[in-house]
Amino acid sequence: MTEINRYAIFGGSFDPIHRGHLFLISSIEKSSLFTKLIVVPAGQPWQRPTIASAQDRLAMVQASVSSAGVIVSDCEVRRNAPSYAIDTVRELQNDFGPGSYSWIIGSDALSGLESWHEIRELATLVEFFVIVRPGYRIDASSIPSFIRWRELEIGALDISATEIRRALQENRDISTMVDEPVLRYIREKRLYGAA
Ligand code: ATP
Repeated sequence: MTEINRYAIFGGSFDPIHRGHLFLISSIEKSSLFTKLIVVPAGQPWQRPTIASAQDRLAMVQASVSSAGVIVSDCEVRRNAPSYAIDTVRELQNDFGPGSYSWIIGSDALSGLESWHEIRELATLVEFFVIVRPGYRIDASSIPSFIRWRELEIGALDISATEIRRALQENRDISTMVDEPVLRYIREKRLYGAA
């Protein structure tokens, strides 16, 4: 009997990618819940502007993700349009073919989910796997009933890109929050006001 492919999509600004993201990626990989994890840096996030360019954010993701089970997709960076998750899912379904598709999000992003472009249609295409982030309890009553979702408790790390950008502005050390290749890239390109 052939097993169906189970794809997980992990999208985000990754401005920059940090150890919280990487811990999530390795936890998903170890869980064996999915056959492939596809990491998708947003090209033009339409709800909130990014600081680093799409090319820089993609390069940092590529520099830090190197595992056979994880694919970094540049589909949103290549797309000359706002990065809607629904377009990404359709494009990846087209590229990877039949299987189940799930979307990974942190619990902080849950409150905004209802405002995602064509969310009703998107919810027919993917199940959401919600990762509990420190400080962001899941309020199940606020999630519309048409959204298929489940909680995934991984013991997520209390790290955010906002805190990293703030630390760089204030000339503080960020080496505990990002991996070495990302730290090097930020320093070389003097991103986020790094000295
Ligand atoms: P910012 O601080 O700029 O909002 P962020 O650290 O939340 O950034 P994003 O690139 O916006 O990072 O997040 C992409 C996805 O990863 C989102 O679904 C977010 O909830 C999730 N995520 C971010 N940080 C963590 C973390 N430490 N643990 C688990 N999930 C995370």
